[in-house]
Amino acid sequence: GSLLAAIDGPAGSGKSSVARTAAERLGFGILDTGAAYRALAWAALRTGIDLDDAAAVENLLDLWHYDITLQGTQRVAVRVPAFDGLPSDEIDVTAEIRDHSVSGQVSRVSKHPAVRERLNAMFRTIVAESGLPGVVIEGRDITTVVAPDAPVRILLTARPEVRAQRRAAELPGLSPEQVLQDLIARDAKDALVVDFLNPAPGVTLVDTSELDFEQSVAAVTDIIRG
Ligand code: C5P
Repeated sequence: GSLLAAIDGPAGSGKSSVARTAAERLGFGILDTGAAYRALAWAALRTGIDLDDAAAVENLLDLWHYDITLQGTQRVAVRVPAFDGLPSDEIDVTAEIRDHSVSGQVSRVSKHPAVRERLNAMFRTIVAESGLPGVVIEGRDITTVVAPDAPVRILLTARPEVRAQRRAAELPGLSPEQVLQDLIARDAKDALVVDFLNPAPGVTLVDTSELDFEQSVAAVTDIIRG
């Protein structure tokens, strides 16, 4: 089987880019679980179902087809049932799922426990069928729920002010104060899932507040190499 490395962390911890670069250097795949929640929200908005209706979102999970690349440039694609005269083509949503209009709606689908269980099962299947020597899987509840038995489990974190500064640098036009308020609001919405300051037993905490990108990647790569 392939070596599994689970990485959790909040927005702005550097989790996504650090996990991706570490995976590339190790020759591993990278599974970004947030992309599936985003793609599901996108598909729900597209088909016009009520995102707060758990049964409707579960029904969509029965009908959709989800596809994500584990290596190379990330590509996320979704096929939803034909409706309103639109064909049931596979649609590349790689860019669209990062849009503000999607980000603000994701917690409405990720809050449903039954939906989470379905996506978690999908994540485990994707990893099991990857055929790769190793997979880094990153998200919010990977170390605790999705892969609590993974041989490597890391919580990547950073002080809120540092996370806000990093995010602000990526989002020109917004002040660090504004970004910090947004981050705190999103953490609170997601709080049912993770305590970002206290790792679960057996999970290694990596605080990137005082680390640059290279140092963060080195820290994670070293832990995975063991
Ligand atoms: O990591 P990313 O910012 O792309 O995640 C988007 C949203 O997906 C999160 O705000 C959260 O609502 C949801 N999510 C989740 N569990 C995960 C990954 C993401 O609930 N493992």
